[in-house]
Amino acid sequence: MQVFSCPGRAGAAIIRPHIQCTSGSHLKNTGTQNPNAPKIIPRAAHNVSRDEISKSALKVLYRLHKSGYQAFLVGGCVRDAMLELHPKDFDVATNATPEEVRALFGNCRLIGRRFRLAHVRFGREVIEVATFRAAANHKDDDHAHDEEGRIVRDNVYGSIEEDVQRRDFTCNALYYNIADFSIWDYVGGVRDVERKRLVLIGDPDMRMREDPVRMLRAVRFAAKLGFTIDAAAEKAMAKDVPLLANVPAARLFDEFLKLFQSGYAEQTFDLLREYKLFAELFPATDKELDEDPSFLQFVKAALQNTDRRVRADKSVTPMFLIGVFLWKPTKMLAAIRRAEEKMSESQSLGLASYELCAAQQRRIAIPRRFTVPMREMLALQPRFTQTRGKRAIKLLEHRRFRAAYDFMVLLADVGQFDSEKAAFWTNVQNQSAEERAKSFEISAQPKGKRRRRRRRPKRSQSP
Ligand code: ATP
Ligand code: MG
Repeated sequence: MQVFSCPGRAGAAIIRPHIQCTSGSHLKNTGTQNPNAPKIIPRAAHNVSRDEISKSALKVLYRLHKSGYQAFLVGGCVRDAMLELHPKDFDVATNATPEEVRALFGNCRLIGRRFRLAHVRFGREVIEVATFRAAANHKDDDHAHDEEGRIVRDNVYGSIEEDVQRRDFTCNALYYNIADFSIWDYVGGVRDVERKRLVLIGDPDMRMREDPVRMLRAVRFAAKLGFTIDAAAEKAMAKDVPLLANVPAARLFDEFLKLFQSGYAEQTFDLLREYKLFAELFPATDKELDEDPSFLQFVKAALQNTDRRVRADKSVTPMFLIGVFLWKPTKMLAAIRRAEEKMSESQSLGLASYELCAAQQRRIAIPRRFTVPMREMLALQPRFTQTRGKRAIKLLEHRRFRAAYDFMVLLADVGQFDSEKAAFWTNVQNQSAEERAKSFEISAQPKGKRRRRRRRPKRSQSP
């Protein structure tokens, strides 16, 4: 067996070649070989250590096991542990029903109406426990898919063998068995982790059609893990990209967050563009990116900036990146609106961003708590050109100043805003009130001697 170098530690082996792996067929005790049996990799032969598993997840696994149920860690946490990427989310799969899980844990809530999942809470950490589920089957159940093949129903409990088949990629279908710390591999997931390949389980075209979000997941994992998307999955993607239009906009917002706020936004963006998926998510942005290299440069700078912040554990808000994506289309539309009707540049930017947001939300349901500040952030940009007078100084107190300032600095960084003005706005933030008044050329008026504006005499109401 091949020894593979993990990104986390040079030369570390996922699988130790000298230790014999077994086939799970003997577990069934049927006397004959079971072709669906998993390859079982004993603890001594793999690198998934319990030190990499959260204490809470271990507690859940041990209690299920002691109560006589099967209990496995499954999905991204096993994959990431193998790659020494320090998983943070832990998903448990079991043959216990959700009600049986709830009976074992006081800190447990059942969620989901269609398919019930158990959430076991430990402070801020939630361990998701799912009962083995069967995939919707094309042949047996006509009502499980819509006309385009999208899954609309998959709420049937099943065996572990069935649970494997409904997962997306082979590397996401590895089961870590708490009974003896072995890994059960039904679909060649270990080999694909070693080869750094994203291989869909089952027929690629059918699996992409069932759930077009898998195309986005393929890109996300390829960017995060440095894996290559398998040729068969790539072929299906080339054909199935338009199916993304059928995915509910709310789900695409959740996916947007995972795509762009996980620390690999730049690579993810490049791959989304390469596979023509970005155009499905942000059509107006994609069009401008094709036409204007300087806009691409700005977007790339913002993505790099986001990745740096995520990796430094700093907060990121989706409104910033969405604002960046909509900046050029907003500027273009604002110019049109200004030509149609007399209005200030800020007003036209506000109006244009409103129109573009409305169109964008039909694709990705961006909540209002992000679109409202995002539009303000864009509309404030022309005000950074003004560095004299009371209106200019007031910008410092605007509730969106910080975001708008960061946005302007990014523009300046790529040469798309005056760097001297950017430095001015950076400096004034650290100045005293007197220094600021000087910088903005506001003449200080002695206290108590302020000139009062004379009120206009009220117009008489009667004719
Ligand atoms: P990460 O947590 O790094 O985003 P993950 O693989 O754990 O990656 P989750 O969205 O947490 O992704 O899903 C957990 C597991 O559930 C996956 O590993 C996969 O086995 C299965 N899964 C999730 N989404 C899908 C899907 N759309 N189609 C099929 N299986 C899925
Ligand atoms: Mg996960």
